[in-house]
Amino acid sequence: MSNLVVVSGSSGVGKGTLIRALLERIANARLTVSDTTRVPRDEEVDGREYNFIGVSEFKKRIDEGCYIEWEHFFDTYYGTPKSEIENAKLGEFVILELDPKGALAIKHAYPQAALVFILPGSINQLIERLHIRGTESRQQVNDRVTRALEDLNFAGFFDYAIVNDDLGKAIEDLLSVFDLLHFRIANCGEIIARLRKEAGDIRDDCVH
Ligand code: 5GP
Repeated sequence: MSNLVVVSGSSGVGKGTLIRALLERIANARLTVSDTTRVPRDEEVDGREYNFIGVSEFKKRIDEGCYIEWEHFFDTYYGTPKSEIENAKLGEFVILELDPKGALAIKHAYPQAALVFILPGSINQLIERLHIRGTESRQQVNDRVTRALEDLNFAGFFDYAIVNDDLGKAIEDLLSVFDLLHFRIANCGEIIARLRKEAGDIRDDCVH
């Protein structure tokens, strides 16, 4: 089984930067690519950050049951294609970058998924980051801050929380979470099976 890790938190909190740092450090990790109806930003490439598709195509895919979860916010559709998780390789870390509602939908579908909530150091810091990013209008920044406050209501349902007010520290904290995932009981199937087999062999030896 692969390890599903959802990195979530409000827009502008720095999830993307943290995940990029993580992907550089963890060899067997892959970030899923969602579908969206949003217009690509300057540096974004179709098929890399998102699959950029039209609204009618998105709705068609909803009807066809292509998504594990999908959301409509900021006048945009976002959805996680089922294929992104179903094609996961054994032992692979599959990372999803989703809004908090999407994260909970993943947990519902895959209870073994680990949910990590990224919090900003302060609301002012979040506003500053959204302004520096420069991809949203003033109104869009306001909408994202309003939503960030609503998103906080979901934090209690998550497994881990990381405060991103110091990027270096937040990267280290996120890596610690990944270290912990190695010790999840779900990842011990192989050793448990080996111990059982060994015990069986010992018993057989005693009988003969
Ligand atoms: P942005 O437009 O800034 O790329 O993303 C806005 C928000 O949508 C972010 O919080 C991002 O994590 C979230 N998001 C991206 N893809 C998906 C998805 O497939 N499902 C859900 N629920 N949220 C997504």
